[in-house]
Amino acid sequence: MDRVAKILKNYRLKNTSCRHDVLQILLNHDHAMSHADLESAVEDSYDRVTLYRTLKTFQEKGLIHKVLDDSGATKYAPCSDCSVEEHHHEHIHFKCNKCGNTVCIEDVTIPQIILPEGFSIEERNILISGTCNICNNM
Ligand SMILES: [Zn+2]
Ligand SMILES: [Zn+2]
Ligand SMILES: [Zn+2]
Repeated sequence: MDRVAKILKNYRLKNTSCRHDVLQILLNHDHAMSHADLESAVEDSYDRVTLYRTLKTFQEKGLIHKVLDDSGATKYAPCSDCSVEEHHHEHIHFKCNKCGNTVCIEDVTIPQIILPEGFSIEERNILISGTCNICNNM
């Protein structure tokens, strides 16, 4: 059994070709990918709805998470150790202005945020932009 098939099994997901392909693609890229990126990566093997459902299932199961950047498109990146019950991310995201890629920076955690009385947190997103390590080395 390959790595992707094993992950799907661990998350109790049926190994459909769409799920397998999408997860494989996300794991093979070290930056977050949008719906459109994934669509062109699967070369129209699956329709938009199937792709959309796959991403939704992955999100619900704790396999991938949304990455918000300023491009207007929602991007997705694999989770490191989430599950259906425990789906939370304390890491920041970095958007490179040169290559346009957005990456998860797992080593840098979001500082604790204390809100005024009456406010409650549901999601925390921190996006830092600049030049990534790959572009800086060119
Ligand atoms: Zn997650
Ligand atoms: Zn870059
Ligand atoms: Zn992330």
